Amino acid sequence: MKLIDFFSKQNKNFDKNISLYVCGPTVYNSPHIGNMRPIIIFDIFNRVASLSSKVTFVHNITDVDDKIINRSIELGLTEKEVSEKYEKEYMKLLSSLNILKPTYMPRVTEHIDGMIDFISVLINKGFAYENNGSVYFEISKLSSYGKQSGINLEKLIKITNSENKKNPKDFSLWKKTKIGIKWSSPWGDGRPGWHTECAYFVQKIFGNNGIDIHGGGIDLKFPHHINEIAQYESYTNSKMSKVWFYVGHLTIDLIKMSKSKKNFISAKDFIKEHGGNTLRMIMISTNIQKPINLNDDVITNSKNIIFKIKNSLTKALVEFSTESKRNILVSTPTNSFVNSLKNNLDFGKAMTILLQQIKELNSETEIIKKGKIVEKIIANLSLLGFVFEINYNSVKIKLKKAKESNNFKLLDELKKEIIK
Ligand SMILES: [Zn+2]
Repeated sequence: MKLIDFFSKQNKNFDKNISLYVCGPTVYNSPHIGNMRPIIIFDIFNRVASLSSKVTFVHNITDVDDKIINRSIELGLTEKEVSEKYEKEYMKLLSSLNILKPTYMPRVTEHIDGMIDFISVLINKGFAYENNGSVYFEISKLSSYGKQSGINLEKLIKITNSENKKNPKDFSLWKKTKIGIKWSSPWGDGRPGWHTECAYFVQKIFGNNGIDIHGGGIDLKFPHHINEIAQYESYTNSKMSKVWFYVGHLTIDLIKMSKSKKNFISAKDFIKEHGGNTLRMIMISTNIQKPINLNDDVITNSKNIIFKIKNSLTKALVEFSTESKRNILVSTPTNSFVNSLKNNLDFGKAMTILLQQIKELNSETEIIKKGKIVEKIIANLSLLGFVFEINYNSVKIKLKKAKESNNFKLLDELKKEIIK
């Protein structure tokens, strides 16, 4: 499996054991479809890499945050009630999008003690300091701060005034809080800062030698990932991840989909109206790092591709039923298809191969060969995480009879059953 590192632009190869961390959701409201792009992409990565490697995939749940606290005040619920409600919704979305469950999905609130220890180590090593009940990371103590990214942080760092910070660019590891849920710590009541949880989970779960791939939405690059790297490197003296792999965002009328801009489509509503396969097809129809500009044409195109695939499979299976007694068997994906995905998830090439197979299927006249192509196409679709209910084996005898007796009404009904 080969992936290019966003920062160094170098290709890295991975085999046997792959460690993967993808920043998870802050569970304070219903996700929009743009929020689901990284997890769909990394789900496909997980499926492809798992063909030949053991993948340990961690996807955290941020269940404490200002947004959750504000939402709980707004709804008159506890933070736990808010986070549980939206975590449930997120998990439901994962299953309706046919996303394989990551190996671990740790919740921040279940690791507060561990994070306090982690922050204490950073203080003891001289990279962090406490002032007036809050703890900050002192970026001037880490000479490599932000270097890996190669981006000009000076332009990006927002100077937030806090009289407790030595340098306005320092960032919070522990926040003293008066409002909302808090935990006691050696520095007083408060809660951990957002950038700490991922650095902590990577260290806790994978240890001190870093991971293979760290992924997320492109907006997380700074400050979130740069600040994760700073903490992990200070704690372990080693690199956090060999590859940083980013997924572009979704735009509507070229404006980034976001809650604050109120131009979002909720994932739940989209799936209800267009189906999970349509959303998956949209996500793989564009270069991973580039934004997807969502409009009616994009949705229609994706639906048309799915229709075309289903239609060809149905037609082939109707013919197959008339002359073959054989069931449709579970097959392995096509080698060239797998190899294109193993090369930086080249969806463009993979889809070209798949659509070429559809063409071959349409023009194939030999029944047995038809069956074999159908099996390969189904295996390839499943590797991309598409869900099609294949009922051919249970309706094939009825199909044959309907066709022989020219019962076109029944035949039409059965055709709809073959693949859903
Ligand atoms: Zn993170």
